[in-house]
Amino acid sequence: MPVDILALAAHRDDVEQTCGGTLLKMAERGHRTGILDLTQGEMGTRGSIEDRTREAAEAARILKVSWRLALDIPDGRVENTWENRLKVVRVLREQRPRVLILPYWEGRHPDHYTASILGYEASFLAGLTKLAVSSQLSALSDPPADDEATDSASPHRPFKIIYASLYRDVRPTFVVDITGQFETRMASLMAYKSQFTDQQAGSGIFPAQKEIRARVESMARYYGLLGGVTYAEPFVQKEVGLVEDLLAIPVKSI
Ligand SMILES: [Zn+2]
Repeated sequence: MPVDILALAAHRDDVEQTCGGTLLKMAERGHRTGILDLTQGEMGTRGSIEDRTREAAEAARILKVSWRLALDIPDGRVENTWENRLKVVRVLREQRPRVLILPYWEGRHPDHYTASILGYEASFLAGLTKLAVSSQLSALSDPPADDEATDSASPHRPFKIIYASLYRDVRPTFVVDITGQFETRMASLMAYKSQFTDQQAGSGIFPAQKEIRARVESMARYYGLLGGVTYAEPFVQKEVGLVEDLLAIPVKSI
């Protein structure tokens, strides 16, 4: 069964931090949601890949996500290569999202902005009828061999691409009210126990749990304020907005 909304990000826990409340809200409205992590987190200071796999599954359960996969792209080395684009194409054709959430296309971490461009270009390629790629996600580490690809899922392009912009100080095009989802979203983040519980390893670079909560809350409050609600998550879309009824436009002007 296809997902309605797919969120793609470089690292496990990026989605929880930038658009987890929105994914939960959409799941609560009856939409099928999914998360594609490009890497497995092997460069993390804290915790093993196995820890992070378990934690990511638990976070997905908390956010009511229907489908989640981590690709095998090296952590800290997300590159916009042909091979990596094809890995994302396979997922897009298999999961067939109508809406794709990408990271914002500028940022401090190269993995984040590269994931954004990679996701966009893969979305374009995924719609090309003559591009045949094997649909076997289990064979992701095999180099793509176009002439052998007989088991190819049919072309699919997301209808809508939006960018989760929380990591970047840009003015969002719109925010999603997550007031009702905020606490559960926080719980999904805290499911990454190897990263976010107070411990000695890496304590110089990792803030304490109380501090993380304060930061996450102040960001959500700030974007909530912009939308006239308590907590919200920010997004950017490249297209203009389309309005049917002027009386239904939300967010007070004055
Ligand atoms: Zn990240």
